[in-house]
Amino acid sequence: MPLLREKGVHLYLKREDAIHPFISGNKYRKLKYNLIEAKKQGKSTLLTFGGAFSNHIAAAAYAGHEQGIKTIGVIRGEELAGKWQSNPTLKLADELGMHFCFVSRNDYRSKGELAFLQKLKEQFGDFYLLPEGGTNTLAVKGCTEILTESDSQFDYICSAVGTGGTVAGLINASRLHQIVLGFPALKGNFLPQEIRKFVQSDHWRLITDYHFGGYAKVAPQLIEFINLFKQKTGVPLDPIYTGKMLFGIFDLIKQDVFEPGTQILAIHTGGLQGIKGMNLVLKKKNLPLLDV
Ligand SMILES: *Cc1c(COP(=O)(O)O)cnc(C)c1O
Repeated sequence: MPLLREKGVHLYLKREDAIHPFISGNKYRKLKYNLIEAKKQGKSTLLTFGGAFSNHIAAAAYAGHEQGIKTIGVIRGEELAGKWQSNPTLKLADELGMHFCFVSRNDYRSKGELAFLQKLKEQFGDFYLLPEGGTNTLAVKGCTEILTESDSQFDYICSAVGTGGTVAGLINASRLHQIVLGFPALKGNFLPQEIRKFVQSDHWRLITDYHFGGYAKVAPQLIEFINLFKQKTGVPLDPIYTGKMLFGIFDLIKQDVFEPGTQILAIHTGGLQGIKGMNLVLKKKNLPLLDV
């Protein structure tokens, strides 16, 4: 790409989106040790939380289907109860055998509280609990496996951030001479604190200027970038995470934040299952669509 050549910056993409046809990228890594632990504990049901377009919900449903574990998805938004069939993510999860429990935004906020979990236990019986986005210590451990020996050549490692588990794994796996840059996909003042629960090192930073207003918010400018990126490189990006990260990386390169010769590794964490759902939203708003 001309900008990279002009600035002398080297940018590599690690295609974690290609890991698995359904459980894309980091969600596969985050589930790996949790599924082993659930089986070890003799749990036959996995319960977790997510929004209507959640990659984690799709991945958990698929993993449960593959491994013979029942899955329950507690989904934010009770209004979805009557119309989830028109949501591609939830439709896929249902086909993979996931059982849904739709809750109000208010109830959803109390998902970490014991009383709420107790109510779910009364309703569904015993389960292995995975928090929203699937982030816990075992998930972070799984994400350390994204980096390999040969990635030590890079100066910067970049990842999109949702709940912070993935970037925490990358921080733990990175070398002292490397800096990990996380690009939050939402306005998340809580994130640094969340990430510090899992990491000791301080050679990381969050770049908070590229969330485009929040999780499922997209600007025409972002759509245009994603479509252009795909035209030029053949690599599809998702609009919620990886598109925002790469938009951010290119913007930082434009601003000369990286010295000539800098080697950047950006993790393509996947999320491509979300494109269909996003196009439905864009269509409704008469905005340009993502190329598929
Ligand atoms: C979930 C997700 C992330 C963020 O992962 P966290 O561990 O929640 O920070 C990044 N990219 C994609 C594609 C995701 O699905």
